[in-house]
Amino acid sequence: MDNFDNLKQATVAAHAAGNMDTASGGIVPPIQTSTTYIRDRDYQLHNSDNIYARDNSDVIRAAESIISKLENADDSLLFPSGMAAITAVMRTIKNGRTLLFQSGIYWGTTKWVREFCIRRDIKSVEMDCADAAALHAAILKHKPDMVFVETPSNPWLKIVDIAAAAQACALVGCRLVVDSTAATPILSQPLHLGADIVMHSATKAINGHSDVLAGTLSVSDKSLPLWQDIITDRHDAGAVIGNFEAWLLIRGMRTLPLRVERMCESSLQVAEFLDDHAKVETVFYPGLPAHTGHQIAAKQMTGRFGHLLSFTILGNRKSALDFCGALNLIHRATSLGGVETLVEHRQTIEGDETGIPGTLLRLSVGIEHVDDLISDIAQALDVVA
Ligand code: PLP
Repeated sequence: MDNFDNLKQATVAAHAAGNMDTASGGIVPPIQTSTTYIRDRDYQLHNSDNIYARDNSDVIRAAESIISKLENADDSLLFPSGMAAITAVMRTIKNGRTLLFQSGIYWGTTKWVREFCIRRDIKSVEMDCADAAALHAAILKHKPDMVFVETPSNPWLKIVDIAAAAQACALVGCRLVVDSTAATPILSQPLHLGADIVMHSATKAINGHSDVLAGTLSVSDKSLPLWQDIITDRHDAGAVIGNFEAWLLIRGMRTLPLRVERMCESSLQVAEFLDDHAKVETVFYPGLPAHTGHQIAAKQMTGRFGHLLSFTILGNRKSALDFCGALNLIHRATSLGGVETLVEHRQTIEGDETGIPGTLLRLSVGIEHVDDLISDIAQALDVVA
């Protein structure tokens, strides 16, 4: 089978989109660790795709081809982290131009983008992009060169209507970039909804085993000048992922659809449990019908709502930290998307000047049995005064 175009994502992933070791017949692609490639006596390359390891690697291209298939993209590029992918896109904005980006998203992105815009004299408009009407009006008013949204957002789980945002962007000829990390390519297809570029921190669910840092960008049309700039920047500036990491991503992606399915099922049950609990104030999970973005999420997320959820606990910062300290199974650690469930007290990570309440806790739900997760959460809530 060499064309995976008409197969379901689970099949594409399980077969690594057909990537194998053609030299040995092994059903797993090999890792080529060489940093340079040989030429013959006529100075011709053995393989014209490979000159030097910075941007020339079979295993990286293999991993990118799988991401492209899963994302229905024209092309994809891997980066050594999610931030390296985001910053590669942002660096294409010219000095003096305008960027509109979503407020209340992953703090690492917000911090870098704010400082970058000041450094490069880029006008930035930071706003709540979950309000589709306000976003539409702001795009028409500011005519930005790029709109950057994150949906579902981390840690507030806000949902941006990607199709509506894309329509507004088309009116003023600006590019829409979507950080779809919390959705994964399995739950949402931003390019199909009209986005130009979709980005993932592949450190999260795409790899899924908390042992690789990686980022991806995928594009709807690889002839876009923006994409050509990103390709050149990655090659020339050298923000390339290592071969081992690319290989681990290929291995991780084989089970991505299966992991996402399990994580989504458990997340909904955990969210419902928390929603009914007397010591919980508010649960932020787009799978709950009362969530403000539920209708949009149901439309653009293939009927499942992801593995990330947040909640505020009744009480204060100490109550939240007491809850974390009482957990026996769930790890207290930052990050998300791994097979193991993690809890994070975001204010400790971001500091309280960012407006994150001390009572907010974020859960990344893994693939453990949901009964074990709920009983750990239940006993920890019991401990909180
Ligand atoms: N985007 C989101 C939504 C994230 O949660 C993160 C990291 O937590 C990033 C981007 C940055 O990715 P990385 O840590 O791989 O650089």
